[in-house]
Amino acid sequence: MSAITLNAKASTTFAAKLAHTQALLQQAALEFARDAGATSPALTLACSLGAEDMVLAHLVNALAIDADIFVLETGMLHTQTLALLAQLQATSTAPVKVYRPDAQAAAGFVAREGEKAMYNSIELRKACCQIRKMEPLERALTGKKAWITGLRREQSGTRAAVPDLDRSDAKRAKLNPLADWTWGDVWHYIASNAVAYNPLHDEFYPSIGCAPCTRAIAMGEDFRAGRWWWESEAAKECGLHVSPHSSLAPTQANFAASEVKGGTPGRSQNSELKECGLHVGKTQQSESSALAVPAQANLLAEQVKGGTPGRSQSEVAQAHVAAGDVKPEGRAEAKTLNKEAA
Ligand code: SF4
Repeated sequence: MSAITLNAKASTTFAAKLAHTQALLQQAALEFARDAGATSPALTLACSLGAEDMVLAHLVNALAIDADIFVLETGMLHTQTLALLAQLQATSTAPVKVYRPDAQAAAGFVAREGEKAMYNSIELRKACCQIRKMEPLERALTGKKAWITGLRREQSGTRAAVPDLDRSDAKRAKLNPLADWTWGDVWHYIASNAVAYNPLHDEFYPSIGCAPCTRAIAMGEDFRAGRWWWESEAAKECGLHVSPHSSLAPTQANFAASEVKGGTPGRSQNSELKECGLHVGKTQQSESSALAVPAQANLLAEQVKGGTPGRSQSEVAQAHVAAGDVKPEGRAEAKTLNKEAA
């Protein structure tokens, strides 16, 4: 079963949401217009090549918004993600800019801490994110008045209060035009507009980041359960979406650190600690999330303990088959369909 078949279910208010999103983008293009004589737009789209960002890239092009699109190519992306990047570069009218980490800093980190350092502590994981994401992000945002993101309130407890337009950073505004979209809305738009998407979504990867830090999820798991799954929830952002005024409360950070000590990447019960920083807002640090960790998550925790974090796709497929959401042969059919669509 493809991600479209599984997820494309528009909410009853989808038409109004889409109109609101289009209006937000058009208003932003006016408010954050480039200065006279500027050679590049003052508005930019942060594109992770995930489903939401592919929708936004499509909208930016369809509406002829004066914005460029940037991608952080961390050097750790899946081959499927890199193929989608090439496709976007070939088809987008809006310029697509690729930012890579400083090669010396990235190589030095690996030489010093090892290739799997991100699993050893939150500090090392965030240090890796700093080199591969945060520093390139700073370069991507330099000179920009505002940036567009695919954040949705539904994505996690730490994103539940995402505003349409966040002006809390004095340096630049952040526009979240899909803030009130559901996952079903996103996939309805993708299906309706034949938007290209990452085939990993058909493999039960709803949220896709770097390969070492992303895995497929099972039915019932939190949307972002496949990202930094060995950490607790509020530690999970990589830094891209952390408000400049925001920081994890010390007690949360200490708790998060204690959970990963010992190198046993299990799952935490505390979903608040999982943001990596990219998307943690000023008012969110004191919010108490009531995200429940499903029973399936506890089962999955056993699968990552004591070894390299991750599960084989066949294990994930078996979990979905057991949950009754997909037939084994359906996955093969989905792959065929996607190849045809591509
Ligand atoms: S997501 Fe993982 S691999 Fe990517 S920059 Fe962060 S720690 Fe490094």
